[in-house]
Amino acid sequence: MDFVNVIVDISHEKVDRVFQYRIPDHLKNVLQAGMQVNIPFGRGNRLMKGYVVGFTNAPDYPPEKIKELTGIVEGSVKAESQLIALAAWMRERYGSTMNQALKTVLPVKQETRQKQSRKIIRNISALEGRQLLEEYQRKKYWAKARLLEALLQDEALNYQEAVGSLKISAAVIKGFEKEGIIRIEAQALYRNPFADHFTKQEKKVVLNSEQTKVVEGIWEDYKNGIRKTYLLHGITGSGKTEVYMELIARVIQEGKQAILLIPEIALTYQTVRRFYERFGDRVSVMHSRLSGGERYDQFMRAKNGEIDVMIGPRSALFTPFSRIGIMIVDEEHENSYKSETVPRYHAVEAVRFRARMCGACVVLGSATPSVDSYDRACSGSYGLYRLTGRFGDARLPKVCITDLRTELKEGNRSIFSRRLKAAMEERLRNGQQTMLFLNRRGLSGFVSCRSCGTAIRCPHCDVALSLHNDGRLKCHYCGYETSMPSLCPSCGSRYISGFRAGTQQIEREVKKVFPQARVLRMDYDTTRTKESYEQILSAFGKGEADILVGTQMIVKGHDFPNVTLVGVLAADISLYASDYRASERTFQLLTQAVGRAGRGQKAGEAVIQTYVPEHYSIQTAARQDYEGFYRQEILYRRMMGYPPAAFMLGIYLSGPEEAFLEHQAERLGQRIHQFRAEGLILIGPAVAALSRKKDMYRRVIYLKHTEENALLHVKNQIENILENEAVWQKIYIQFDYNPLNAY
Ligand code: ADP
Ligand code: ZN
Ligand code: ZN
Repeated sequence: MDFVNVIVDISHEKVDRVFQYRIPDHLKNVLQAGMQVNIPFGRGNRLMKGYVVGFTNAPDYPPEKIKELTGIVEGSVKAESQLIALAAWMRERYGSTMNQALKTVLPVKQETRQKQSRKIIRNISALEGRQLLEEYQRKKYWAKARLLEALLQDEALNYQEAVGSLKISAAVIKGFEKEGIIRIEAQALYRNPFADHFTKQEKKVVLNSEQTKVVEGIWEDYKNGIRKTYLLHGITGSGKTEVYMELIARVIQEGKQAILLIPEIALTYQTVRRFYERFGDRVSVMHSRLSGGERYDQFMRAKNGEIDVMIGPRSALFTPFSRIGIMIVDEEHENSYKSETVPRYHAVEAVRFRARMCGACVVLGSATPSVDSYDRACSGSYGLYRLTGRFGDARLPKVCITDLRTELKEGNRSIFSRRLKAAMEERLRNGQQTMLFLNRRGLSGFVSCRSCGTAIRCPHCDVALSLHNDGRLKCHYCGYETSMPSLCPSCGSRYISGFRAGTQQIEREVKKVFPQARVLRMDYDTTRTKESYEQILSAFGKGEADILVGTQMIVKGHDFPNVTLVGVLAADISLYASDYRASERTFQLLTQAVGRAGRGQKAGEAVIQTYVPEHYSIQTAARQDYEGFYRQEILYRRMMGYPPAAFMLGIYLSGPEEAFLEHQAERLGQRIHQFRAEGLILIGPAVAALSRKKDMYRRVIYLKHTEENALLHVKNQIENILENEAVWQKIYIQFDYNPLNAY
């Protein structure tokens, strides 16, 4: 690339614009997004600082008018500047206004009054105090005497405590203040929601040889000034968290700070406690239950240098630290790291940008890495480490795949295969627990054959078609449509239909087949509040039910030692979600589900029911074979040109008038064609997976390109059109870079 897009570090208002500079030859392969550079600015060519937010070969001005940047600025960047640069980069990459981006990254000051801690401080000498005390006692001014006595013991008293425990009225205190005996000082107190619950402990585990290899490897790079992204691939319980803590401790020793991202659902009491016990109150935790004010306080504590470690979900990456040494993303494959509101950023990408800006290393941890991250590790752009062992006595369960086609052939129409039914009966007899898992997520109306397992897929996109209310099968990428067949096109069976089973139906079925069993259900409906989510889990943990039926919610986080059986009712549901990541998601969900069985001393068993037992994501998940899964999946991605083999941009259009929206979507497609961008693939427009939401109709267009910058350039051209032509104001358009979920 010959040119860089730079935002200038002046003030919030002026950063909405990027300025372009030529890259001097000696910096051509050195400059990276996020770096701070010196630039000549304005007419007087004043030397200023700016941040690299992007690259281009096709500048927006005549090349001879573009100035050359002066050099890279070494040294650290203020937190505020980092965040503004991050916002500018997000605006460029994900498509949003600068305002939306700034709102995402900068902590919002809420008008909640800060909790104040007022102190009463003695203003006279102890000698004067004792004389005065005698006088009060003589005159029987008991309240005044009590207060003064306390102040002779402690020079400063907490106002609230004085009023409460000494039973002193505010009038007495005011009187003291007037006479100059005391003064009252107010002090802003940043709320630390966890401070009182944990204490720091000095116990430390001794890392095993695999863990040591990871820590020492990363640390050697760190000491040598190498800053990279590392992928730590290790199953649950292999000791990743201990590795994180050791790296964080070392970074703190160097006077640096750390940010650890954990999906909200995994941010449990247990996890938080481990960090408090290791790092004491130099740790802060953010989560969605904090009030706006509390969240702001945590950010302020970070900014004022009162803490070294911030733990939290996606948005914790915006913690205003200025000396970050390490940024860690645990469970990096989780969908929750992708924002589903504009700007639709991915936390892993944003973390890497920020880390580059402050010279930090990045560690991504997962038991089932995203295909994207693993691909980067294989190509050498990420460092790769593995943890293969498991601590404690947890063992991998015995896994059995049952073929629902055979069950049907042999006359079993129930939702339980004979194998699963028998295994459940055994658990009920032995007083052990069962988890039944329905891997249903979002929308899925795929159609498949119960006799041969074939699902009907789009001939162009190789993703499952979904059945709409009008009885037609549609592709949500390209808009291909066909009518619902009455016989299976592959084997001629008439057992072909949409797959509709919910957790409620399953709960009913369980109660029918096992009337003696105590059943709990956990899904979106039963967990509207955070409390109900924990209530169900805790009830199940205490053995108040024999069987827990649920969606993917139940496979995450919690350990139940008495669960020795996990049943996956229909692995195919997530397999045929109508997007290219269906197999990846299925593998992740099944691996997690299987891992739920046998966390305690008892041996575990998992039964996976499916119509396509031969599918690689099911086979490899049953063997807990990530490598095997990846090798197959990456071939599919390469063949079809899906990420990470290519880059993809979703353009989501919505509006209240369907005909107008349809017309504009067509029109936008034509305009994009007119760019004649070489190598650009345009798919659609098509009806979105969710075709209408809150009375707004929805359409999608997808773009693919093997060159990331070329795709971003096309996005900028589209943004230009949208900004400059009034007709586009009437519909709402969002960009989604490398989308994870169907819109
Ligand atoms: P992960 O984060 O990969 O799920 P953890 O770090 O939580 O794994 O480790 C799982 C369990 O094993 C925890 O209870 C942890 O304290 C323990 N553990 C991890 N490493 C060691 C070690 N080196 N020695 C003893 N126990 C360990
Ligand atoms: Zn068939
Ligand atoms: Zn298609």
